[in-house]
Amino acid sequence: MKSLSSTPDAIKPQLIDRFGRKITYVRLSVTDRCDLRCVYCMSEDMKFVPREQLLTLEEMTRIGNAFIDLGVNKIRLTGGEPLTRRNILSVFEALGSQENLKDLTVTTNGTLLEKYAQPLKNAGVTRINISLDTLRTDRFKKITRIGKLEKTLAGIEAALQVGFQKIKLNAVIMNGYNDDEIIDLVDFIRARDMDISFIEEMPLGEIGDHDRAKTYYSSDKLREYLQSNYQLTATTEQTGGPAKYYRFTDNDQSRIGFISPHSHNFCDDCNRVRVTAEGMLLLCLGQQHSLDLRKVVRANPLDDDALRAAIIGAMKLKPKGHDFNLNEQPIIMRHMSATGG
Ligand code: SAM
Ligand code: SF4
Repeated sequence: MKSLSSTPDAIKPQLIDRFGRKITYVRLSVTDRCDLRCVYCMSEDMKFVPREQLLTLEEMTRIGNAFIDLGVNKIRLTGGEPLTRRNILSVFEALGSQENLKDLTVTTNGTLLEKYAQPLKNAGVTRINISLDTLRTDRFKKITRIGKLEKTLAGIEAALQVGFQKIKLNAVIMNGYNDDEIIDLVDFIRARDMDISFIEEMPLGEIGDHDRAKTYYSSDKLREYLQSNYQLTATTEQTGGPAKYYRFTDNDQSRIGFISPHSHNFCDDCNRVRVTAEGMLLLCLGQQHSLDLRKVVRANPLDDDALRAAIIGAMKLKPKGHDFNLNEQPIIMRHMSATGG
């Protein structure tokens, strides 16, 4: 198979869209399935993609490598729950061995991290994001519909134990669900030298649980609340994603990030694209623009030139931005779990 992965940086092509944005970050969803059913992400009765329509592990690796050839230096594996995909470590290992990939990261709900933290570290994973919205057992069950808090907590401890640095919690704060736990979550990360990102809930897919306009908790409100409890300083730090970070004046290890798709649209400096578990290249989280990469890899099993050309060509499809509106039916019927969060 022809691969450019060893090509020196200087002559590597780059991915630049019509608005001059350089694409250096790809989120690969490795499955749309999950062992939880978080109320903001999925409906109770989800229909998953038939297994034969999913990319194989080899196809995922080919796609990841093609992006690295094109100048992508950060890849996040996500889902659904990425660690539920059988033999997924082989993809982490293959991508983790690519010299030109600076950051190989994973977003997980943590339930399987007790088993996978060490193998992920060995595979070259540089950072882990773990989603956790509550520290209360009964509430964890309510928000995830089927989960057990102690598994995620054990996963977090395992990730810390094997030496992952700057682990980040992702939390979606919802009015009436967990808005009374903001301080508890922040104290949890401060005690462990971790970061936290608070994400505004996005209208992706039907969830059949709550009215998203009613549970919406804005990043601005959250930040004001936090500023009345901690001394925070805004930073210009970037971790390659959309979060805006603040630091504590009394603790230089932890940070608070805000991901604010509603209140502070982050499209102008968007540097990323997503690939679904079926191989659809999504140019924007909040729009339908896409290209079927599975078709391209299957039509060209021995040569990645066509795959790279297709990815370069898709850059002209990247829209200027998303346009979320909580008061309308979701215009994007894909759930976050299918999109790759
Ligand atoms: N299962 C893994 C997890 O939960 O970390 C990875 C996939 S999950 C889709 C990735 C992230 O998307 C999680 O942090 C989750 O909280 C977030 N998420 C899911 N649905 C969302 C929504 N509708 N709005 C905002 N964030 C959402
Ligand atoms: Fe699963 Fe993650 Fe969605 Fe929760 S947020 S249902 S853990 S994919």
